Amino acid sequence: MSNIFSKAANIYNLFKSIDFKQLEALSKKVDLQEVMTQFGKMDDKQLAGLMKMMKGGGNRKKELPPIDADFYDLSGKLSPEDRELQMKVRQFMETEIKPIVNRYWNRAEFPFDIIPKVAELNICGITFEGYGCPNRSFLMEGIIASEMGRIDASIATFFGVQSGLAMGSIYVCGSEEQKQKWLPRMQKLELIGSFGLTEPEVGSAAAGGLTVTAKREGNKWILNGQKKWIGNATFADVNIIWARDLDDNQVKGFIVEKGNPGFKADKIENKMALRIVQNGLITLTNCEVTEENRLQNCNSFKDVAKVLRMTRAGVAWMAVGCARGAYESALKYTRERIQFGRPIASFQLIQNHLVEMLSNLTAMQTLVYRLSELQDNNQLTDEHASLAKVFCTLRMRDVVSRAREVMGGNGILLEYDVARFVADAEAIYSYEGTKEINSLIVGRAITGFSAFV
Ligand SMILES: Cc1cc2nc3c(=O)[nH]c(=O)nc-3n(C[C@H](O)[C@H](O)[C@H](O)COP(=O)(O)OP(=O)(O)OC[C@H]3O[C@@H](n4cnc5c(N)ncnc54)[C@H](O)[C@@H]3O)c2cc1C
Repeated sequence: MSNIFSKAANIYNLFKSIDFKQLEALSKKVDLQEVMTQFGKMDDKQLAGLMKMMKGGGNRKKELPPIDADFYDLSGKLSPEDRELQMKVRQFMETEIKPIVNRYWNRAEFPFDIIPKVAELNICGITFEGYGCPNRSFLMEGIIASEMGRIDASIATFFGVQSGLAMGSIYVCGSEEQKQKWLPRMQKLELIGSFGLTEPEVGSAAAGGLTVTAKREGNKWILNGQKKWIGNATFADVNIIWARDLDDNQVKGFIVEKGNPGFKADKIENKMALRIVQNGLITLTNCEVTEENRLQNCNSFKDVAKVLRMTRAGVAWMAVGCARGAYESALKYTRERIQFGRPIASFQLIQNHLVEMLSNLTAMQTLVYRLSELQDNNQLTDEHASLAKVFCTLRMRDVVSRAREVMGGNGILLEYDVARFVADAEAIYSYEGTKEINSLIVGRAITGFSAFV
């Protein structure tokens, strides 16, 4: 019975939506009686569909699913406080960095205005305890690296050098007095740091081959040699320099302050990646550093390796962010770009690229979550961090290159963002240990044989 009433109501509604003047014109062209007979045979669903069409519903813009590369809802595992901080960093990156980033990247300049704004986020030295640091999890540190990388890998790198490499060196290798002196101001980004390990002639072989020398003379040390690629070095207040002690042949760490006589940092020009990062070529010429500024708890390269183990996980997270930014940009583009009268996202071959990107990304994300769990449980080994760095940076390269591909010509224009991700991925792929070096670390762990030359 109720069925009959609902059908009658639908027919009544249908009649209400009819323009009778148009109907009169229509009656000259079609057999209206036949049309009415057909209407009478329709069920509820068919009538509702017809009404929707007549109201123009058929032409309404299709509602598309939200663009979100966290396909397995890994963020859903975060505590409300961690989720809140994740969203705070995301919002900062989207509102403060995204609008300016291509301009600065193009000019290879650093946007110094953002430094106090980054400080306000209170995320520097996030895992450290004391010295004004937030003492949060390594997982949170990873999420931050990824959120930054999702918008811009240069800003993520600047932050990684400051918060991980420079502050981390003092946190791991400094005396209590040195930590008290430097870390609170670095945490607030009142002092900016750099980390000088690589040299013009020594990159992958840094563990055994550093050529920058340190010679003790009474209460001071004399440093000589060059460091290459040192991020932030052109403006850093605190430069961590790793050098070989001429007396015991071991690696020692030194805090070389800006303006120290004998210290010079020249900007490395003409980079095709991470153009916002100010990488310096540091020249040390009889550079005098007091014993007070020697990192008191670094006795060999093994102590440097402790810092690198801590930060290498962050690079894997950054690769996730870079890939995610490229994927999300590409997905948006393919849904908007029309070819052959349809969005290119509706083509099977384009969907195949998108799904391969998302598969890679989901595998990377799942891997780094577990990596950080290991780190938070104090179970992280060098080989864990190396495997993540190798896998994530390799997959990142694949994702960004597919993102570029589905965007056609626009994929190489800065204004569409993906070109920047493609270029920056090349630097992330090589720094903090190349694929070969990290593979050798994992290879040694699983086979029991060292293949390092
Ligand atoms: C943008 C950028 C930022 C950087 N920032 C910093 C920084 O802030 N501080 C810092 O100290 N350094 C920094 N670096 C340096 C970076 O860590 C080195 O570039 C990296 O470790 C590789 O060293 P290399 O460039 O000298 O390459 P090389 O060591 O010369 O290697 C060249 C090639 O040979 C391969 N290779 C080397 N040895 C072996 C082997 N035994 N078996 C097989 N293959 C091998 C490498 O994998 C690579 O493919 C930065 C680099 C870049 C590009």
